[in-house]
Amino acid sequence: MTRPSIFIAAIMALLAMAAPAAAQQPAPAGKSGIERMYVLYCGDIALDDASSFTPGASGPGALSVTCYLIKHRNGWVLFDTGLGDNIASMPNGFKSQVGMWTVKRTLTSELAELGLKPSDIGYLVLSQSHPDHVGNLGLFSGATLVVQKAEYDWAPPDGKPRFDPAQKVIKAEGDYDLFGDGSVVLISTPGHSPGHQCLLVRLPKTGAVMLTGDSVHTKANWDSHRVPPRNFNVPQSLASLDRMATVLKENNAQLWIGHETSEVPLRKYAPAYYE
Ligand SMILES: [Zn+2]
Repeated sequence: MTRPSIFIAAIMALLAMAAPAAAQQPAPAGKSGIERMYVLYCGDIALDDASSFTPGASGPGALSVTCYLIKHRNGWVLFDTGLGDNIASMPNGFKSQVGMWTVKRTLTSELAELGLKPSDIGYLVLSQSHPDHVGNLGLFSGATLVVQKAEYDWAPPDGKPRFDPAQKVIKAEGDYDLFGDGSVVLISTPGHSPGHQCLLVRLPKTGAVMLTGDSVHTKANWDSHRVPPRNFNVPQSLASLDRMATVLKENNAQLWIGHETSEVPLRKYAPAYYE
């Protein structure tokens, strides 16, 4: 070895010793503990003005509302609870600030079709605390809530706590591998709300899928790297889109946008499932 190459080798060895711990990122894929994942219909939103969620759009619009149910060997995991089942009994739906909410099939009935009661759900992961994601929160008081601490602690406008203080809760601070096997991983994506999170699900046959919550409302927003101006923190939302793109690439994952109506026909809905 020449003197310069010895010098370079010494530098390389020093650098290797001094290398910092790997940045926090989803645990590597191991043997997935997931048996299957169901896609559940959780309501429809007819928007008076599509641009309220998709900047640049015009005229009325629509958002689908989707929940996901995962059968893991450690228990049932529900991601988001959709619009409230009570809306199903309102003849014309519920008029919200942004448009009409309707529910054609209740979450309770969809669970029943799978032989499940709300009390069978062990873990309730919420992307965030907005009403179209927590409409049926009250049905799952026996589940362990899994949210970001920033969302849990976010002061609500009416002064009442967002979540029942009596409910068992895991308050994550950043990414979090729920079962330690890399199969159900919270990906912290703040911006739409202070503690928004996506869910990275590693399915044994389908592969990795990222469930978006409201980090992305529509495919047009993803393609144009835009977020609604109504988001809690727009620059933070845009940084979260970048983070998602990195996680998608690292995991060769599919992006499933729960509010994107054009994706509805692409999915198998319960009782069909993904493995
Ligand atoms: Zn939403």
